[in-house]
Amino acid sequence: NKQVLFKDYVVGFPKESDMVVTAGEITLRLPEDAGNSVLVKSLYLSCDPYLRSFMSKLVGSNAQSFVPGKPIFGFGVAKVLESKYPDHKEGDLVWGTIGWEEYSIIKEPQNLFKMKYTDLPLSYYTGILGMPGLTAYAGFFEICAPKSGESVYVSAASGAVGQLVGQFAKLHGCFVVGSAGSKEKVDLLKNKFGFDDAFNYKEESDLNAALKRYFPEGIDIYFENVGGAMLDAVLLNMKKNGRIAVCGMISQYNLEKAEGVFNLIHVLLKSIRMVGFQAFDHYHIYPKFVEETHRLIKEGKIIYVEDIVEGIENAPAALIGLFKGRNVGKQVVVIAPE
Ligand code: NDP
Repeated sequence: NKQVLFKDYVVGFPKESDMVVTAGEITLRLPEDAGNSVLVKSLYLSCDPYLRSFMSKLVGSNAQSFVPGKPIFGFGVAKVLESKYPDHKEGDLVWGTIGWEEYSIIKEPQNLFKMKYTDLPLSYYTGILGMPGLTAYAGFFEICAPKSGESVYVSAASGAVGQLVGQFAKLHGCFVVGSAGSKEKVDLLKNKFGFDDAFNYKEESDLNAALKRYFPEGIDIYFENVGGAMLDAVLLNMKKNGRIAVCGMISQYNLEKAEGVFNLIHVLLKSIRMVGFQAFDHYHIYPKFVEETHRLIKEGKIIYVEDIVEGIENAPAALIGLFKGRNVGKQVVVIAPE
């Protein structure tokens, strides 16, 4: 049972060597005293930026951390091998929180969800049909309150969440511009995902000027994935009554001291509604989301790009790659092919 063990708490930028891949014992049967546990075989692991926060030692908070010496855990797709939990049975395909290991005993099986559709690649449940997809859907439709014709700006736009936000916004009749960190990603945004325009933020010495170029009349909606200097520049370019959905701030996750945001006065001056949100608080709309998104994929109205890495040995590098912009599309690790 190959596992990715967490070595020790991380300060600053995480490294591959903060994790170690080892061969643990294989358990192909649940122990007698397993309570309502479920034994699963991992098929796909999801690399998500929030896993960085689990690498920090959290003091005085009820948030979770990984345990040094134990396997990392996160979203994944798995097959049930044995179950003492009435809602899951042998052979079920599930997605939810699993260990970063080939076989995993899930002690909180209520965190595993049955797949509604299996006529698309199962890896989609780490992304477009799973937590990141729900994040894009809930964040855009519930937090941004979009109107057709409005101007939308998405940062980290080619990633798991961003590519979907942009496409939902286009389907809603908005004008959409995205930014990303390479030419390849900018091309994807313009030529594959159908963004109206896109730019490489790493090539812009003045982000304020760049945004003025793409939004001469200002931004109605900003879907915030990165924070820092980008947020500061966006604040200068928001329209009156604009909305900012604060989904993530990946530029800040590895800093020992967060950067200052200097232009917050524009929230007041322009009556901006800036709202943070977490996917976890929106699971009640998951059934509606998955129904609609599945249909849009089947009709060819949404395109989805994954960056698939093979083998659990490569999982640590794939996770660290998120913070270097190495992934092109949703970062997935295949553990066992379907
Ligand atoms: P992505 O697939 O977008 O991967 C992360 C991307 O972030 C990288 O590819 C890179 O793209 C970009 N990035 C990395 N470092 C920086 C940096 N210093 N400055 C600017 N961009 C950077 O990840 P997700 O789509 O899964 O997540 C996107 C955001 O959404 C994250 O902030 C994440 O924390 C947040 N999130 C929030 C959720 C919620 O419930 N609120 C749930 C899921 C995600 P590039 O090459 O373009 O720089």
